[in-house]
Amino acid sequence: MSSKVLVINSGSSSIKYQLLDVETGEALATGLLERIGQPVGAIKHQGPAGTTTLEQPIPDHEAGIATILALFAAHGPQFEAADLAAVGHRVVQGGDRFPGPVLVDDAVETAIDELSTLAPLHNPPNLDGIRAARHAFPTVPHVAVFDTSFHTTLPPAAYTYAIDRTIAKTYAIRRYGAHGTSHRYVARRTAELLGKDPADVNVIVLHLGNGASATAVRGGRSVETSMGLTPLEGLVMGTRSGDIDPAVVFHLQRVAGMTTDELDDLLNRRSGMLGLSGSSDMRDVHDAVAAGDEVARTALEVYFHRIKSYVGSYYAHLGRVDAITFTAGIGENDDIVRINSLAGLERLGIRVDAERNAGRKKSECVISPDGAEVTVFVIPTNEELEIAREALDVVAASGV
Ligand code: AMP
Repeated sequence: MSSKVLVINSGSSSIKYQLLDVETGEALATGLLERIGQPVGAIKHQGPAGTTTLEQPIPDHEAGIATILALFAAHGPQFEAADLAAVGHRVVQGGDRFPGPVLVDDAVETAIDELSTLAPLHNPPNLDGIRAARHAFPTVPHVAVFDTSFHTTLPPAAYTYAIDRTIAKTYAIRRYGAHGTSHRYVARRTAELLGKDPADVNVIVLHLGNGASATAVRGGRSVETSMGLTPLEGLVMGTRSGDIDPAVVFHLQRVAGMTTDELDDLLNRRSGMLGLSGSSDMRDVHDAVAAGDEVARTALEVYFHRIKSYVGSYYAHLGRVDAITFTAGIGENDDIVRINSLAGLERLGIRVDAERNAGRKKSECVISPDGAEVTVFVIPTNEELEIAREALDVVAASGV
C-alpha cells in the first residue's frame, strides 16, 4: 500500500492542503486557497518546482478542490488517484459519536452535518471539503479525523458542567475540547523525546496559537482540557475571552441591551488579546509593551496569569508531571510568554532556563535546566502529519 495521504483542512473561505508521505513524515507539497466565494481568490502552492502564487475566482469548495488538482497537475508532484492511500479530512466537532477517525460514507457525512449545531462555523465547511473531495477522488478512501476525538477519554467529572442534568442531556451540553489532533501529536512526541512509553508519561500540553488550549495527558490519554462545549472556554486567546463568569452575558443583555449575536461577536471575535490590548497578534503586544504601553503590559499579565492557573490545576489533577510542552504559533515562537507563564512554579519542580528558552524555536528542544524534575519542551505541532497517520491507520485496519 502507498503511504501517501492528501490532507485537507477545509474552512469557510479557505482550504489548506498537504500531500504527505507518512513513512518519511515528509510533506511533498503544501498549499492554501483563500477568499473562496469572493470575486478573486488567492492561491499558494509549494511543491517540487518551488512556490506558485495565483489569483483567480474560486466560487465554492467544489471549484477549490478542482483548483488543487489542477495545481498538482501543472506544478507537481504528479500523482494518480491510485498513488494515494487516503484523503484525510480535518473535522472540528465529532461530539461523543466519534472517539476516533472513521472512513467517510454517506452516514458519516450525515452525522457530521448533524453535529453542526455544536460547531456551526466549522463543521459545515469541513463537510463542504469532504463532499467536494469525494467527488474529485471517488476511488480513494476518505477518512474524517476529529479535533474532539482525543478528548473523548475525559472522565465524566472533567467533562460534566454543573447544570440541570436533563437540560444538559437534551441539548448535548458538556465539555468536548478542541485542538485534539495537535495535543495528541505533541503528547506522543513528548514521550518519544523522553525516551519513554506514552503509557508511562504525564504531560501538560500548552497549545498557544491564535486559538489556545491546555490539556492534561495521563499515559497518552486526555484527562482534562481547557476548551469546553465550544473553543471559547479556557485560556485567553487572540480574539476569544476564554473563561468568564457566564453572568457577564446576562448582565450585558440587561444593562447594555446586547443581543445574542452581539455577545457572540464580543466574546469570540473582539475579546482576548485584541479586546485587552488592541491587537490579537502577540508580536504587536510585545512591541507596545516595549514602547511603554501599560495597557498592553496588563494584557500580557492576564495572559500569563491564566496559563499559570491551568498549569497549577492540571498539576493537581495529574499528581505527577513529567513534562510541560509548548506548541503552536505563540508556544513555539514567544520566549517571553514561555518563561513568564511558568515563573514562580519552582516549588513544583518547574523551571525554565533563560538561555535555552531564548528565541524562536524552529525545532524540538528542551528549555528546562538539566536535572529539572519537570522537563519543559518546545515541540512544533504537526497536525497534518497526525491526520495523515491516523487516516493511513484507519485504511490499513479496514482493509479497503
Ligand atoms: P497559530 O494560530 O498557531 O498559527 O499562531 C498564530 C499566532 O502566533 C499569531 O497570532 C501570533 O500571536 C503568534 N506568533 C507568530 N509568530 C510569533 C513570534 N515570532 N513571536 C510571538 N508570537 C508569534
